[in-house]
Amino acid sequence: MKWITILGSTGSIGTQTLAVINEHAERFRVRALAAGRNVSLLIRQARCFKPQKVAIADESKYAELKTALAGLPVEVLAGNDAVCHLATEAKADLVLNALVGFAGLKPTLSALKAGKNIALANKETLVAGGHLVMPLAHKTGKAVIPVDSEHSAIFQCLHGQEISAVENIILTASGGPFYGYTQEQLRTVTVKDALQHPNWKMGKKITIDSASMMNKGLEVIEAHWLFGLAYDKIKVVIHRQSIIHSMVTFRDGAVLAQLGAPDMRVPIQYALTYPQRLELNVPRLNWEKIKELNFAAPDEENFPCLRLAYEAGKTGGTMPAVLNAANEEAVNLFLQGKICFLDIPRIIEAVMNKHKVVNAPDYETLLATDEEARLLARQFALKKG
Ligand code: NDP
Repeated sequence: MKWITILGSTGSIGTQTLAVINEHAERFRVRALAAGRNVSLLIRQARCFKPQKVAIADESKYAELKTALAGLPVEVLAGNDAVCHLATEAKADLVLNALVGFAGLKPTLSALKAGKNIALANKETLVAGGHLVMPLAHKTGKAVIPVDSEHSAIFQCLHGQEISAVENIILTASGGPFYGYTQEQLRTVTVKDALQHPNWKMGKKITIDSASMMNKGLEVIEAHWLFGLAYDKIKVVIHRQSIIHSMVTFRDGAVLAQLGAPDMRVPIQYALTYPQRLELNVPRLNWEKIKELNFAAPDEENFPCLRLAYEAGKTGGTMPAVLNAANEEAVNLFLQGKICFLDIPRIIEAVMNKHKVVNAPDYETLLATDEEARLLARQFALKKG
């Protein structure tokens, strides 16, 4: 029996993780659940999965959560510190971090310090603080297992292989809903258009990141930290069908790829069962229908976020945290209808240009950098492009 704590249980990855756990109730138990503010779903999850602890980050929802769960043997907590506390909870074998944004970094560090293995969906953790997370994982001897489908694909391809034999890795990208669009077309796209991802159903923030190609940029930095590869060994290719989830080229020219229907339950389950595999009721690929797989180079001119992410990653220090914070802020403003789609890369680039890099930042420096970059992003949003 494996005890799992889920941070971000009410989100897209969180709910799919609970679906996987439900399919293998004989193998997994939920130790603790944490959410942001969706108290009604958290209450339903707590009644169904009977965790020993639950936490809600939004303290104003505490009373409602506590009252609804009165009578159940569950400890109810609230606030950001409570989310971190759950991450360190003694009896969990694995902490699955499905929080969104920079908010995921501190719980990841707390969990590793407490000696927990992590299944990591929260890519922003590694973008902003990979230089803190990975050395800590190595020091404590704990695993950081990727949940992101591309990184899970690479992780699976690397199983039993020497990292020194890798020539490069190739992250596949669907290209999102605006693939092939011109600047002119991108100028008028709406929030509703941007939320229509062709292949995946995900939370709002990552869906907008996919439309702008920032998601792939964040994944490049995530891959750099997870696999310890230089940026010139991390390539991106557009693959509209999302059937090949990513590939590894080895030094003898051999390429290994991981394929499957686009369904996040596969990488989620692999992160829970690694290095074993269990049966899973997901759609299988139908080769007669597929017939061909297509590839293209990314369009960095109309979608500059990918270039910005490579630049931030190569610069290092606080710059990736700045990229991440400016992006989080710009995406929020876009979702609120306050800026247009093309403002997203414009704002991120302006914030990066203003930033003076601090090398090897600790968590407090990253936190201050994050706040500063968000403030700058809001200021640039007010200026006309
Ligand atoms: P969602 O927006 O669907 O879910 C985010 C979760 O985090 C929710 O449970 C939310 O709670 C919770 N949350 C948000 N802010 C806080 C906070 N400050 N404190 C505590 N909890 C908080 O996101 P996704 O599930 O789509 O994505 C999660 C992460 O996984 C992201 O980093 C994303 O990039 C990555 N990822 C997602 C994929 C997907 O298919 N969705 C694929 C690959 C990676 P509430 O809803 O209650 O407010």
